[in-house]
Amino acid sequence: MKVRALSLLSGGLDSMLAARVLLDQGIEVRGITFATPFFGPEGAQKAADQLGIVLLVVDIGEAHLEMLKSPKYGYGSQMNPCIDCHALMLNRAGRIMDEENFDLLSTGEVLGQRPMSQRKDALRAVDKLSGYKGYILRPLSAKLLPETIPEQEGKVDRQRLLDIRGRSRKRQVALAAHYSIEEYPSPGGGCMLTKEGFAQRLRDLLATQDNVSLHEVELLKWGRQLRLPGGERLVVGRVHGDNVKLQELAGEEDLVLRVQGVPGPTGLIAARAEEQEVILAAKVVAAYSDAETGKEAVVEISGKEDRTLTVNTPPKEEFRKLLI
Ligand code: SF4
Repeated sequence: MKVRALSLLSGGLDSMLAARVLLDQGIEVRGITFATPFFGPEGAQKAADQLGIVLLVVDIGEAHLEMLKSPKYGYGSQMNPCIDCHALMLNRAGRIMDEENFDLLSTGEVLGQRPMSQRKDALRAVDKLSGYKGYILRPLSAKLLPETIPEQEGKVDRQRLLDIRGRSRKRQVALAAHYSIEEYPSPGGGCMLTKEGFAQRLRDLLATQDNVSLHEVELLKWGRQLRLPGGERLVVGRVHGDNVKLQELAGEEDLVLRVQGVPGPTGLIAARAEEQEVILAAKVVAAYSDAETGKEAVVEISGKEDRTLTVNTPPKEEFRKLLI
């Protein structure tokens, strides 16, 4: 019976090399990657194509958002709860391993490469929290870590695993050349939770609202974001692409605002907003449009019932303090 590994692929070089090292041993490797509003499967798909393996994409958006509100091991430098995030991914992969009779899970983690999530104690915490301790193999650093069950059972040859440690990328780059892997992104670019601007918006959302939905998180990616005095968030398109996206994303729970007759941004606010907040939102949208400051602008409001509001166009500087 062929040994079967379910390998987490992020799209980065390390997880590609980890899978490649197992393929080298004649192990059958299936890739697995995860989708949330903060990172998607595109990079992993490219990696799987290069490796010539099948990739499974699992949407963990809801569970990831729940975890993100209060991660057991806290956040990294921004809003990235890497230890809990890895554990969640490995838990989901582990369930599939059980259901589909894989022998092990593998990741591209390298001991000591990341200050928070790849220390020895952090890897131990991930193992424990995931519920699959003993079945998580890190081929790039395996010789520096305790033997896993598949190694003890002889399903994986420990001698042919590696002992990479630390932040230097030299050995990975050499291995990539050895395996003729030419296309790979620079490390650490794919997760929005590590980006300062996005993290600030997310922090604001989680701090001001209970029961945050995936839809509300998705809206964080577009345009300017303003926190209005009554507590509602207003999103105002900055460029044409934002306006198109906001129109696309608007659902029954939203109001869409646009100034009639002049070029300007699309605004989006929750339909539950009090009338005072909607009036303020209309003023903001008018202020960021080409409507003349100090003159009247008619703002179209689309929601369950469409209507218009006529407002006096304020200077946009007035709203700077509301920007998140
Ligand atoms: S960087 Fe993002 S995707 Fe990667 S482990 Fe951390 S939170 Fe998860």
